[in-house]
Amino acid sequence: VEPAGPSHLGFPLGEDQLVAAIRKVLSANGPGVAVGIGDDAAVVKGGTVLTDLVLTTDMLVEGVHFDRALSAPRDLGHKAIVVNVSDVAAMAASARYALVSLALTPEVEPAWVMELYGGMLTACDEYALSLVGGDLSRGGQVVIGVTVTGEVERGRGVLRSGAQVGDRIVVTGFLGASAGGLVVARAPGAARVAALSTEWGRELLRAHERPVARVGEARSLAQAGATAMMDISDGLAKDLSRLCKESRIGARVELAEVPVAPQLEELARVIRANPLTLALTGGEDYELLATLGPQSVAPARAALAERFGVPLADVGEIIEEGFLAVEPSGTEVPLEPKGWDHFERG
Ligand SMILES: [Mg+2]
Repeated sequence: VEPAGPSHLGFPLGEDQLVAAIRKVLSANGPGVAVGIGDDAAVVKGGTVLTDLVLTTDMLVEGVHFDRALSAPRDLGHKAIVVNVSDVAAMAASARYALVSLALTPEVEPAWVMELYGGMLTACDEYALSLVGGDLSRGGQVVIGVTVTGEVERGRGVLRSGAQVGDRIVVTGFLGASAGGLVVARAPGAARVAALSTEWGRELLRAHERPVARVGEARSLAQAGATAMMDISDGLAKDLSRLCKESRIGARVELAEVPVAPQLEELARVIRANPLTLALTGGEDYELLATLGPQSVAPARAALAERFGVPLADVGEIIEEGFLAVEPSGTEVPLEPKGWDHFERG
C-alpha cells in the first residue's frame, strides 16, 4: 500500500505516477473496503463489529534500502517491523499481527537470518504485535517483505484525505536525523570514526538504524482532532505533497519552523551536509505529519509533551491551492517535492 521513494524504483516513470496508474486499473473498492490503495494503510471491515481492520506491507531490498556490509541484521529486522507499525500508527490504529516473506541469497549465513528474526521479535515485543508466519525463498538479492495488520475503532481511522483549508500542519519530534545517520554510515573511514566518537554522531546513526514508530502519539493526535495524518517516510516535502493531493488542497510551510534535528548542525560542521535539506527531503524519520484545526494545536502539543515528552512543531497552514515555502526572510517560494538544490544555498 505504501510506496517507497521514487529513487527506490529506478523506473523511467516516477513512483507516484506508477501508483496512480495502478490505482486506475484496480477496480473500485470491493465490498467492505473503506480505504484502498493510496493511504498509509488500507482500512477494511472484518475486525469485530466495533473495529476496522488495517492492512499494510513494506519491503526492504538489499542494494536499494540497505547494504548488508553496513547494517547489522538485528537492526534491519527491527526496522522492517517498525516501518510497518509506523504506517498502521499513522491511521491511528494499533498493530496486531505480522507476516514476513524473506528472499535470501545462497551466501547468507543461518546466523544472519537468526539475528534478523531476533530484531523482528524484539520490535514485535516493543509494539505488542505477534509474528504469525511468512515465507522463504531463494533470490537474487536479500528482500525482507513484512505485512502488518492492525485495528482501529470503526470509522475512526485518520486518513490523508481529511485536511481542511485553515488547518495547521504539525510534525512530531525532529526531522533529518535518519538521513544524517546515513551520511555518517557512508562517510569515508576517518570521518565515520570521528563522527561515531561523538554523542551526536551516535545519535544520528541510531536514528537511522532504530527508527521509532509514534504509536501513542498518533492516538493522541487523533483524540486531539487530527483531520489528516500520515507518517513521514520519504521526507516532509514529498509526504506533505502526497497528503495535499489526497485532500485536494495546498500548503504553506514556514521553513524557520521545520524541526531540524539539532545533531545535524554538528554534522554539517564536519561533513558537507545541509541540515534543512536533510530535514525536508531526507526521509525515514517515521515522525507523524498531521493537520489540526488551529484551536487544537495547543492541547495536542500539551498532550504529547506530557504523555511522551515529544515536541509538536506547527510548521504551516493548509491553503486552498499551491505548495509554498516561506523562507526565514519572509519570501515565498514554490515548495518542490523534489529538486532541493534551491535549499542548498547558505
Ligand atoms: Mg506511510
